Amino acid sequence: MRAYERFLKYIGFDTQSDAQTGVTPSTEKQLKLAKELEKEMEELGLKDVGISEFGVVYGTLPASKGAEGRPALCLNAHMDTAPAMSGAGIKARIIENYDGKDIVLNEKSGIVTRVSEYPSMKAYVGEDLIVTDGTTLLGADDKAGVAEIMTLCERLIADETIPHPELKIMFTPDEEIGQGADHVDYDRLKATYGYTVDGEAVDEFSYENFNAASAKVTVRGISAHTGMAKGVLKNSALMAMEFNSMLPVFDRPEHTEGYEGFYHLDSITGTVESTVMEYLIRDHDRDKFEKRKEYLLSVTDFLNKKYGYEAFETEIKDSYLNMLIKVSEHMELVDNALEALRESGINARAVATRGGTDGARMSWCGLPCPNLGTGGANCHGRHECISIQKMDLMTEVLLRLVGKFA
Ligand SMILES: [Zn+2]
Repeated sequence: MRAYERFLKYIGFDTQSDAQTGVTPSTEKQLKLAKELEKEMEELGLKDVGISEFGVVYGTLPASKGAEGRPALCLNAHMDTAPAMSGAGIKARIIENYDGKDIVLNEKSGIVTRVSEYPSMKAYVGEDLIVTDGTTLLGADDKAGVAEIMTLCERLIADETIPHPELKIMFTPDEEIGQGADHVDYDRLKATYGYTVDGEAVDEFSYENFNAASAKVTVRGISAHTGMAKGVLKNSALMAMEFNSMLPVFDRPEHTEGYEGFYHLDSITGTVESTVMEYLIRDHDRDKFEKRKEYLLSVTDFLNKKYGYEAFETEIKDSYLNMLIKVSEHMELVDNALEALRESGINARAVATRGGTDGARMSWCGLPCPNLGTGGANCHGRHECISIQKMDLMTEVLLRLVGKFA
């Protein structure tokens, strides 16, 4: 079976996650795909197959002959799709030998994937492209990863001469709501390191991500009748604006790229009496990240002195950390991935993710876990697509990659 055939089956399962439910998995429907994967893994002949109480699917593929003593390698993909758009009733269509032009996804509704808006489409010219009918997302993120890993397992089981270490397969729910790594059972997994297969372009390999924190700034004002406010009124909304004006203007997401970090004012609500601002703080560099947090606290202190009372209160919470430090302890993860990609004819480059990944969380829990692409594009929306050939290619990359750990 080719990876895309599995993929077309998996996208028939609606697995949209939901940040509001407060349970794991966040939606019951993700378990339907989990059960399907459990069944397929058992049919393929994987060992120790099962679904945890949190909907995480586990399975083990024993090492090839001679590689039994090698450290176990985990391969992970997530089952859920983004809350941003429906993943129910996906009507996928295959465009054979894509010509590189704009794609009319839905003639009736006038939905068109324009190459001018999605320049990454050029990478798929001459390939067979799976697209949506414009009313749902496609689910390549990350069912393509699931399909590629499952196809890898089938190939390894069919051909015992391909070397590989013990493989720990893990499919997680709720990645899209930031909870994919919450309930990983590392004792059950017993892997030394791993990869998430959850990106877009096949040539993008990532073992760095942001250090991330959030800050909640509460500003307390003093209200008074405006006619008699002189010397009494402290307008917390204006004080909040003053706070924000002390942050560097060009350290914002809209002005930064690559390794440049930022402060992002994510929300502000307030009245004269009280204003609350929520910030996101991001930086790849750990020292700069710590300095950004310190700077927010020093602005808080400065303004409190200026106003003469505890008008400003800043609470900072770390969200996730850059996996780089943890991956650095196993640089073979980077070298082997780049080698496998290049040997497969892919001009791979390491990109620093400007966000977080489940792999980052797992890395800090003792499972260093860089990220490989799947071949998909334009994720989280109606223009999402993936090519059949890129899925085959990524399966080849995985075959080469596991061989390097044997
Ligand atoms: Zn994903």
